Amino acid sequence: MTERVAIVGAGLAGSLLGCYLARRGLSVDLYERRPDPRVGQPERGRSINLAISERGLDALRRIGLVDSVMADALPMKGRMIHPVAGPLDFQQYSASGDRAINSISRGTLNNALLDAAAAAPGVSVHFEHRLAELDSCTGSMVFETPGGKVKVSADVVLGADGAGSAVREQLLAEGAVGESVDFLDYGYKELSIPAVNADFALNPGALHIWPRGTSMMIALPNPDRSFTCTLFWPAGDFDALSNAASIEAHFRTHYPDLLPLAPTLVDDYLHNPVGVLGTVHTQPWQAHGRTALIGDAAHAIVPFYGQGANCAFEDVVELDRCLADTGGSWARALPLYEHRRRENTEAIAAMALDNFVEMRDKVTSPVFRLGKRIEHT
Ligand code: FAD
Repeated sequence: MTERVAIVGAGLAGSLLGCYLARRGLSVDLYERRPDPRVGQPERGRSINLAISERGLDALRRIGLVDSVMADALPMKGRMIHPVAGPLDFQQYSASGDRAINSISRGTLNNALLDAAAAAPGVSVHFEHRLAELDSCTGSMVFETPGGKVKVSADVVLGADGAGSAVREQLLAEGAVGESVDFLDYGYKELSIPAVNADFALNPGALHIWPRGTSMMIALPNPDRSFTCTLFWPAGDFDALSNAASIEAHFRTHYPDLLPLAPTLVDDYLHNPVGVLGTVHTQPWQAHGRTALIGDAAHAIVPFYGQGANCAFEDVVELDRCLADTGGSWARALPLYEHRRRENTEAIAAMALDNFVEMRDKVTSPVFRLGKRIEHT
């Protein structure tokens, strides 16, 4: 009999995982708490674009999705440093100048993965299904839906439900896993720079950084020729600016070149939410050889290395490889997947925290630049 696999969360990791498991001939139910994002508006202020690097592209390439996703991608070959005063400084990621990371719309990427998963044989996608209860021993689950509670069960349950994972919460409540979450005392807010005369207001071939010591802002280009900026600041400090005058005065002092490029700055600042940042450590990632965590649900990291989604995609490739290496035995594949991935995800979590210090402070230091590998954000 074909095993029934439930994936909780149809975000980046869950949708990609659905595609990979369908190729193995498995019967997959993909449950997502949100309505179908392909027919609605994206959430306001939630990382509109992502830097996808070779690690992530490899996962897409293996299932034939890289060309369609890359069609709208904007390659960024280096970082452009914006000082408070003085000229911009472009720092190439590779000496040859031919290596780039790619700015990709989160929505477009998620929708492409959802399209591919929904079209794959054996995959059913269920929107507006929020996991509310799980028994990780039996695979029994309860979802809250607009029509009321729905009870289902599966042979294997994979939690791809992000940093605030309900699957992880249930495993924790059962005593099947332990977790620690290190919240950063920084939050983030998204701002935007629209196109000017139908063209980019800044160089679209770079990831733009405004390093300011205790705060920092970055901007990535979008296919509609706008940029999305992300301002990182100690979480409590955002509230200090509560009206147009104080917001404009602050940006005039600290980000003077942004002000003329951001006509919606005050509205963005006042209405976009402040996002929380943190690192999630979970151990183990699986229970009973039938329930497991993947992507941010297992190991969310801070975004300063631009690697969370790339890392989640690598998890999917590795889990698929473990299934191949164990002849499709979930009981053996799940611990093997954790064993092979844990060291890598712990390393990138530490590097992501280190890169925050580099991006907000050190990118302006010539001495530092000479001694430091500058392949990435
Ligand atoms: P998610 O994308 O969070 O998906 C989880 C899904 O599960 C969602 O669709 C959610 O609705 C659903 N869900 C949640 N709870 C339930 C439930 N109870 N029942 C059913 N469904 C549920 N990564 C990069 O690689 N490059 C970048 O440049 C980058 N920039 C970032 C910038 C910011 C500001 C932030 C915050 C993150 C950034 N990341 C980046 C990290 C990246 O966003 C995450 O690592 C990635 O989204 C993880 O994918 P995921 O599928 O594990 O989780």
